[in-house]
Amino acid sequence: MLLPETKRILLKLSGEVLMGDQQFGIDTDFVSKLAEEVKAAKETGLEICLVIGGGNIFRGMAGAAKGMDRAQADYMGMLATVMNALAMQSALEKLGVETRVQSAIQMDQVCEPVIRRRAERHLEKGRVVIFAAGVGAPYFTTDSGAALRAAEMRCDALFKGTSVDGVYDADPKKVASATRYDHIDYDTVLAENLKVMDASAVALCRDNAIPIVVFSIRERGNLARVLAGEGTQTIVGTGPNPA
Ligand code: UDP
Repeated sequence: MLLPETKRILLKLSGEVLMGDQQFGIDTDFVSKLAEEVKAAKETGLEICLVIGGGNIFRGMAGAAKGMDRAQADYMGMLATVMNALAMQSALEKLGVETRVQSAIQMDQVCEPVIRRRAERHLEKGRVVIFAAGVGAPYFTTDSGAALRAAEMRCDALFKGTSVDGVYDADPKKVASATRYDHIDYDTVLAENLKVMDASAVALCRDNAIPIVVFSIRERGNLARVLAGEGTQTIVGTGPNPA
């Protein structure tokens, strides 16, 4: 299972990677390092769409667990993703990378609304487009937002940069013998409920034949390695599932 030639990618970063070594919030130094990785990837000629989660600031489920109305808490989570998007935009523009933020929740003073054709034009002009606020509806996650934007922007692959270097058959933090898959198919991920992205996001990628590349964004230079087909990663796609 090899990746197709990639010209346009969607890079999804979980909110927690923006924390760096902090326990909460945004570590601006670490965001600058992430921005350098994005810049390097762009300099290889790729068109880049970015989706950033909000888990470093607020997750709807956590609010609901403490008695908040779930939808209300989810809207707070979506607003958190906009803050992260603005932090990343600032870091990218400091490096000279033109960037536009488009939010699924309209906030005209801060960023553009999501307009696909406009986003296309930004990409053509060499700008990075950050899609914020997920799908703009509660009960979803930014993984679903990433899959949706990858489909509508016709990205060749969705790269999910997280704290783990791929998909394992068990939680590697709890099970010492857990092994990482190099390749795995969408249906196995769904049937075995493996922690890649939420099921609706995986199904959307499957139905639109978008490969998902799960890798660790915490190691410096890893995005470039993974884009070059090197480095440690798991590719979720169709095709054989090697034992
Ligand atoms: N969220 C939502 N709808 C969306 C995207 C996000 O309701 O389309 C909310 C949800 O509460 C979620 C929070 O925003 O917990 C932060 O997003 P997510 O958990 O996906 O962030 P990540 O885990 O990637 O940091």
